[in-house]
Amino acid sequence: MKPAKKWIGAHVSISGGIENAPCNAHAIGANAFALFTKNQRQWQAAPLSKNNIQSFSENCAGEFAAGQILPHDSYLINLGHPEAEGLQKSRFAFFDEMQRCEQLGLDRLNFHPGSHLKKCTEKECLATIAESINLALAKSKGVTAVIENTAGQGSNMGYRFEQLAEMIEPIKDKTRVGVCIDTAHAFAAGYDLRTEKAFATTFDEFDKIVGLKYLKGMHLNDSKKDLGSRVDRHESIGKGLIGIDCFRFIMEDPRFNGIPLILETPQPDIWTDEIKLLRSFEK
Ligand SMILES: [Zn+2]
Ligand SMILES: [Zn+2]
Repeated sequence: MKPAKKWIGAHVSISGGIENAPCNAHAIGANAFALFTKNQRQWQAAPLSKNNIQSFSENCAGEFAAGQILPHDSYLINLGHPEAEGLQKSRFAFFDEMQRCEQLGLDRLNFHPGSHLKKCTEKECLATIAESINLALAKSKGVTAVIENTAGQGSNMGYRFEQLAEMIEPIKDKTRVGVCIDTAHAFAAGYDLRTEKAFATTFDEFDKIVGLKYLKGMHLNDSKKDLGSRVDRHESIGKGLIGIDCFRFIMEDPRFNGIPLILETPQPDIWTDEIKLLRSFEK
């Protein structure tokens, strides 16, 4: 089999068991995928069984290595929570997710950094998030904490590259912290990606402020909302306000080789076609 240069997939369902995720990815012609390691809308989850873990690894074998898989944490977790109880609950849940990744042989966990809920400053929130990452890394091994950029909706942090850099700066083990750039979030946060020039400027800025070496994955989404709107609404590739060119630039650019490129677009029934379209842009 000729090795593909780009690892392209989608955030697939774990309905019926986590071991179904690689099969769901295979079915849409993906060579990468994202998944939740538990029900993302509940705090509690049963531990992964030996059977789950073994079947997951069997279903991945020969097709999906750890670096092609980008687990996503629960939406409930807020590692920048301004209140002690909420923060503790979030840190515990995040550590549990790190452990689930470790058990599954996965090497990275993608998460939304956190929100200040208008109860502390942005700066305080960023420091709390960094401390949360340090605590999780100290207690775990082998899993990189991958901070996702956000659209900056509500009080969500991580919408400026400077904020991503500020969260990374205090991390003690820099080999286990990374970033996931979501195209829809970047665009809604004010980073233009529509033309070759705008795209180049945005990623030059990212490289200068954060560093491309931290890029451990991407979410490929078009956006229903406009540049700088700070509203997070994903659209299918080429059907939104970012437009198809941005995704062509990504596919043509070797800087995005070797990391999971994940669709979180709203029409799972066209993921197969979206992946084919993206593949057609590869040089
Ligand atoms: Zn995303
Ligand atoms: Zn989003």
